[in-house]
Amino acid sequence: MTVATESTTHTDPDVAAEAARRRTFAVISHPDAGKSTLTEALALHAAAITSAGAVHGKGDRRGVTSDWMGMEQARGISITSAALRIDYGDCVLNLLDTPGHADFSEDTYRVLSAVDCAIMLLDSAKGLEPQTLKLFDVCRARRVPVITFVNKWDRPGREPLELLDEIEQRIGLRPTPLNWPVGIAGDFRGLIDRTDGCYTKLYRAPGGATRAREERLDAAQAAQMEGDEWTQAQEELELLGEIGADYDEPSFRAGESSPVLFGAALPNFGVSQLLQALVELAPAPADPVDAQGQVRPVGAPFAGQVFKMQANMDKNHRDRMAFVRIASGHFERGMVLTHARTGRPFATKYSQAVFGSERSTIDTAYPGDVIALVNANALSVGDTLYTGPTVQFAAIPSFAPEHFAVARARDASRYKQFQRGIAQLDAEGVVQVLTSDVRGEQAPVLAAVGPLQFDVVKHRMAEEFHAPVELSHLDYTLARRTDAASAPTAHGLSGAEVLTRRADNELLVLIHNKYRLRVIERDNPDLALEPLLAGGVA
Ligand code: GDP
Repeated sequence: MTVATESTTHTDPDVAAEAARRRTFAVISHPDAGKSTLTEALALHAAAITSAGAVHGKGDRRGVTSDWMGMEQARGISITSAALRIDYGDCVLNLLDTPGHADFSEDTYRVLSAVDCAIMLLDSAKGLEPQTLKLFDVCRARRVPVITFVNKWDRPGREPLELLDEIEQRIGLRPTPLNWPVGIAGDFRGLIDRTDGCYTKLYRAPGGATRAREERLDAAQAAQMEGDEWTQAQEELELLGEIGADYDEPSFRAGESSPVLFGAALPNFGVSQLLQALVELAPAPADPVDAQGQVRPVGAPFAGQVFKMQANMDKNHRDRMAFVRIASGHFERGMVLTHARTGRPFATKYSQAVFGSERSTIDTAYPGDVIALVNANALSVGDTLYTGPTVQFAAIPSFAPEHFAVARARDASRYKQFQRGIAQLDAEGVVQVLTSDVRGEQAPVLAAVGPLQFDVVKHRMAEEFHAPVELSHLDYTLARRTDAASAPTAHGLSGAEVLTRRADNELLVLIHNKYRLRVIERDNPDLALEPLLAGGVA
């Protein structure tokens, strides 16, 4: 008897066409560079809404998520707390949120495993800042192409050439400006398009509340209008031409060069140019590759990967939501999917599918889109869901933790609940759980990328698992991966400790600080101590 198998090569051309018009990206930046302002500017510009309304300062903001929800209600833009969908011409732009600020955590990094491109947003006065660098490391490790947007050009800042130099020198990313500012930061006159030499003169809108008025001029008109500033910009452009800083698709796609745009999100300067660059340069969702290295065409039946888990915001429902990026095929609410890790069916009938904080606005979604599945308690970060031929994507790597604390159950009689809770939080990727024979099962070490993850642990252990925990912070700031052969030596080190990461059984050495690490490396040249980069792909 022959068993009929579904062909893995069956692909749907309509789905492939839908995939081709999608751009899924995230903004990587340091707090205050203008991510929220830019997000709103992109959405509003795309929606061609002429009055953006005043963008409020930090004080009267309730955070990005609630801003987005407010925008959804006010303007009918489809949003979840994880993704903002922007329709722009024929394109669908999916902007995935990278939680920053105080809630910087592993989630922030994982989002970057679900995008095809990143916008590196820089404050023109500050250049590369620490959080941007960490997020950039993840992009580099995953070879995510990066478009650079130099923001706040309406304010005094640094020289454009100096900023480009910093990007090249510090992170080895070759900048290739697409446009060039006329007038120094703080006296921003307009932008020269490097492809055709044309000039877009920008006029500040009164109060900065509405879209800046733009006027296209040819070079002769522009030279007359801007005088010395124009001449200086032309000289700088010549220099760029000489050093060959021109857009180059293969190196951009490989994450080696970065198209750069200048602008100012708040008064809406240069935002349309950024939208255009996303449409023209950012890659559409590619055919995904599974854990075995097999390519599954985007037009193949549905497959997607969980990149983020979130406790339900509704306190009456204890269940959790899974955010899934679609890798192939089309999703329709009500589909029954297969959960690759367990082989069990996962019904999406009641799922609050797709973009909508409180209501479902779309019932169908395509590669590059993000869907939100409720009742997802059985799912974990990195899990694959599919229909049709079996597929499993490679695990999403865990990232280098920098904060460590020992967890103990406050009430010894609730040890079972304690164990269950810690295991659940580990599976969800809320924190990494490390153990050792020396410390024992009752005192696992929790490892986090950002300290706020510990607050989440405390809260959920008490509220959800009824097993309040006590956390004692450990004086380590670094983790390095070692192996079984090196473990006996590593155990004897001072200022360090060896633990096993439960999720993948990796042996990690925790070290007080980088000075201690240097001494250890100097004294033990044969010891295996591999860095877990910020984007430490396991
Ligand atoms: P986030 O922390 O990266 O989300 O930054 P916000 O979007 O909250 O912006 C931080 C501050 O910078 C706010 O006061 C914004 O109004 C201001 N800002 C953002 N973009 C610009 C810009 O292009 N020009 C000026 N002058 N201010 C800006």
